[in-house]
Amino acid sequence: MIRQFQLVETVKSYDPAADEDALNRAYVFSMKAHGSQERASGDPYFSHPLEVANILTKMKLDGASIITALLHDTVEDTEATLDQIEHLFGKEIARLVDGVTKLSRIELQSDHSKHAENFRKLVLAMSEDIRVLLVKLADRLHNMQTLRFIKSDERRRRIARETMDIYVPLAERLGMHRMKDELEDLAFAELHADARASIRARLDFLRDKGARVVPRILTELDLKLADGGLSGAVVSGREKSPYSIWRKMQRKNVAFEQLSDVMAFRILVGDIADCYHALGIIHSAYHVVPGRFKDFISTPKPNNYRSLHTGVIGPEQQRIEMQIRTRDMHEIAELGVAAHWTYKQQ
Ligand code: MN
Repeated sequence: MIRQFQLVETVKSYDPAADEDALNRAYVFSMKAHGSQERASGDPYFSHPLEVANILTKMKLDGASIITALLHDTVEDTEATLDQIEHLFGKEIARLVDGVTKLSRIELQSDHSKHAENFRKLVLAMSEDIRVLLVKLADRLHNMQTLRFIKSDERRRRIARETMDIYVPLAERLGMHRMKDELEDLAFAELHADARASIRARLDFLRDKGARVVPRILTELDLKLADGGLSGAVVSGREKSPYSIWRKMQRKNVAFEQLSDVMAFRILVGDIADCYHALGIIHSAYHVVPGRFKDFISTPKPNNYRSLHTGVIGPEQQRIEMQIRTRDMHEIAELGVAAHWTYKQQ
């Protein structure tokens, strides 16, 4: 559990203007309000709002978001009132806490039959201030990280289903891919534990078998880019997520063994001209897989995602997916709207 001074110091480190006094008071207020309440894990309840705040500091969110995270369950679950919060922390914080409380209430009322699309629209409409939704997503993420402590199978599955149907698409809509990927994987683990385990085992096997393949591809990509006159590009490789592999198996109705592209590579460069330069180098060095090229730089996705996508037959004769983007585009792709609330020095 992160300590009070650590939390405050972390926020101050990226946002020196944050209200240190209010952060300290929110910490103490929430801890006292939750008192001896416990989580399903047996931990003090206060560990939950504290961890939600901690998740948001990793996204470098502003002081008001962190204070809201600390207070987010006090009105719903303790004796504390909204008036009290407004009196102690001001109108802005009260409005944010009220927003999160209202979202939690419609969540409680929602039932299985509710159409996910309508529910998502309602959640979006109720989050006039996007920070409300960011706190709610971090709240859901921590609840999913601790889902295993809930004893009732039915309740765990309901929460995981709701995460998959409501919060994963919301995170996607907001362009928050890091959040989306983590929520999706946690929900997948609950809903299809066996499928996930066997895909992971297969990925482990492939990783061992082809241990030197990825470094070889990385080295060759580095060389090709440098030969082509592009300096400063950073190439990285990663496995696709078990869930995305599973979806593809379902969609194409194929077994894992038949999937040829489980690796994805990413090239980060300085500016847009470099993106097309890198693309030109890759396309002239390797056979292009038809139909895989997409230009989300000239036509960004509605959630502001920008990147070039292409698929080629790589150095080891297997299909590899490639994303090419600038470092700025990459930050937006990972954090989405949260990137706009990130405190930026200068
Ligand atoms: Mn909560």
